[in-house]
Amino acid sequence: MLRLHNTLSGRIEDFVPIEPGRVKLYTCGPTVYDFPHIGNWRAYIFEDLLKRFLIVRGFKVEHVMNITDVDDKTIRGANAQGVGLDAYTRPFIEAFGRDRDTLNILPADRYPRATEHIGEMVGLIKTLLDKGFAYRKDGSVYFAIAKFPAYGRLSKINLEDLRPGRRGDADEYEKESVHDFALWKAPKEGEPVWETEIGPGRPGWHVECSAMSSKYLGPTFDVHCGGVDNIFPHHENEIAQSEAANGVKFVNYWLHCHHLVVDGQKMAKSKGNFYTLSDILAKGYDPREVRFLLLTTHYRKMLNFTFEALEQARAGRNRIRDFLVDLRGVKREGPPGPEVTGLIEAARAGFFAGLDDDLNISGALAALFGLIEKANALVAGCRLSRADAEALTSFILEIDEKVLKIEPTTVLQKSDPNSKRIVKIINENVSVQEFVKVDISSDVDPDVQKKIDERQKARAAKDFKRADEIRKELLAAGILLEDAKDGSVRWKKVGPPAA
Ligand SMILES: [Zn+2]
Repeated sequence: MLRLHNTLSGRIEDFVPIEPGRVKLYTCGPTVYDFPHIGNWRAYIFEDLLKRFLIVRGFKVEHVMNITDVDDKTIRGANAQGVGLDAYTRPFIEAFGRDRDTLNILPADRYPRATEHIGEMVGLIKTLLDKGFAYRKDGSVYFAIAKFPAYGRLSKINLEDLRPGRRGDADEYEKESVHDFALWKAPKEGEPVWETEIGPGRPGWHVECSAMSSKYLGPTFDVHCGGVDNIFPHHENEIAQSEAANGVKFVNYWLHCHHLVVDGQKMAKSKGNFYTLSDILAKGYDPREVRFLLLTTHYRKMLNFTFEALEQARAGRNRIRDFLVDLRGVKREGPPGPEVTGLIEAARAGFFAGLDDDLNISGALAALFGLIEKANALVAGCRLSRADAEALTSFILEIDEKVLKIEPTTVLQKSDPNSKRIVKIINENVSVQEFVKVDISSDVDPDVQKKIDERQKARAAKDFKRADEIRKELLAAGILLEDAKDGSVRWKKVGPPAA
């Protein structure tokens, strides 16, 4: 059974959706005043892991993610450039979609934009005014948190020092300054204005998520996600607005992912440690390496982003790729053996049990890499049949397709430039069985093959000095030879050795 940590209770709970087999999921989306940074992507990748695993567990997921295209930051940015909100936010919305696809994140079913839901927000604010949870002051409308006794339940905030009637207009503020917050902001010089039933002005940030989530998912839904920095005030305010207006529980499970820091420090443009996805890709990394790194730290732990860690993610992904290459080299005919079947079953159980345990990705990956280690020993000892190799490959490609999406096979395109057939097969998306059956040796450069044959002859004649010379020559050309116990030779393109 899937168990998830609920910020509301502070405990890990069994996950039971409202409607059997369906999950209604709302995740706070980007504020499109800038390009998303890797801290934002960490949260979106955690949400992608959650969503993919819910699908694995048989749920039909209905996912809504908002686009905040009007708030303090977008208005400030648009004014600084002297353009309208729409013109200012459009490139950031487009970049968000592009980077999301690049990182293999499943798109949401809907991306409602705040500026297209002003009517829904006004309707919600009107209800709050009618029910006495909100009040007007100088053309703005504020939520009176003293009228909502459950305020603070999510963030466990201390309300003892709360002074009734204290107000704030900023969309974001610290816990120390807990106060009545703006639902609707009176017109101000240089800000967009909507003429509405509750008067002219523009919405506050928090009210958009309450209005759009209930429009698309109903007044009560299953899961709401965001980063820990959203807990207060944003999610606390969402709960207050929604539950006060609708009179029912807003969300059953609140999931929050921890911060990402860079080299142990808070990311900031002023510190020069602020990275967008394109900044990292420009340094020569593959987006799937970035995905792997952001995925591999448990979502409730702080993730320390360093380029060393990114190198480790690359090495981990390459290990999976190398294993798949090795499996392709297995030629021995024969049925699948019980040993490999047992290993795969244990790895499958371990992988999914890890994820069932509040998305414990470390446990899941330990099962995967444990399998690779044990199976590697079988490959080296020539104890695998072709059918075993196919079963192992199918399993790894299956969990990659369903959950990880780091696509280890795509690395083959870069690492095996000689291997035209492999590139062709990947491009044509043929079946796993076809992939396994590609005969890698037929793709060897004829000159390389000549050297390999010459070395085999030298070995047969016990001329080990010559054999070793050839091995070194090939390595200098980026070809690593591996002698199997049965006397056959396998090779791998490893790139030129470091200078
Ligand atoms: Zn939100």
